[in-house]
Amino acid sequence: MGLIIAVDGPAASGKGTIAKALARHFSVPHLDTGALYRGVALAALRGAVSLDDEAGLGALAASLDPALLADPALRDAATASAASRVSALHAVREALLDFQRAFAGQPGGAVLDGRDIGTVIAPDARAKLFVTADPHIRAHRRFLELIDAGHSVTEAGILGDILARDARDSGRLEAPLRQADDADLLDTSELDIGTAVQRAVDLVSRRMNRTF
Ligand code: C5P
Repeated sequence: MGLIIAVDGPAASGKGTIAKALARHFSVPHLDTGALYRGVALAALRGAVSLDDEAGLGALAASLDPALLADPALRDAATASAASRVSALHAVREALLDFQRAFAGQPGGAVLDGRDIGTVIAPDARAKLFVTADPHIRAHRRFLELIDAGHSVTEAGILGDILARDARDSGRLEAPLRQADDADLLDTSELDIGTAVQRAVDLVSRRMNRTF
């Protein structure tokens, strides 16, 4: 099995940027698994099926249109919130499982980021990071990103969305957001992104060099 790096954590913790940087550093492909749940949510919001129709959402997830993953609306707050609703459903998680496991199992290895990579998708991953940060700091970072991208948002509104999503993702029965017992914790609250990436590279390198 190649080097699997699992990167989990709550919204706007820096895990996506860190996962991309790890993929570059260790020359392995990267999968943003949140985009899959966002894709299902976006198709549903556009009228494919209702957000309450578990079987319909499962079927949508099983035949996800890859074009959706490049749609700018994938990053909207409404899509994120709907993603956190559809991702609590068994049929949706089940339909996306094989694809994620196959991606993780590529001979050359892979980096996956999400909520349940170290706990459910790749419990045997060689390196696991749980990336987190104070919710106020996460909200501030997301606020600056969105303002920069020309969106009209308030920091309080973003904080509310983040806290609601954290609560739903951590409180669900299936594959809840939690730190795997054997994951390294990386709190990015006080770190700029360059330092956070360096810490992540160091933590993963240490895992790679460890003999079990
Ligand atoms: O990481 P991102 O913010 O794009 O994820 C959007 C939503 O998708 C999360 O709030 C979560 O509900 C869901 N998700 C998940 N499991 C993953 C990745 C994302 O449940 N592995």
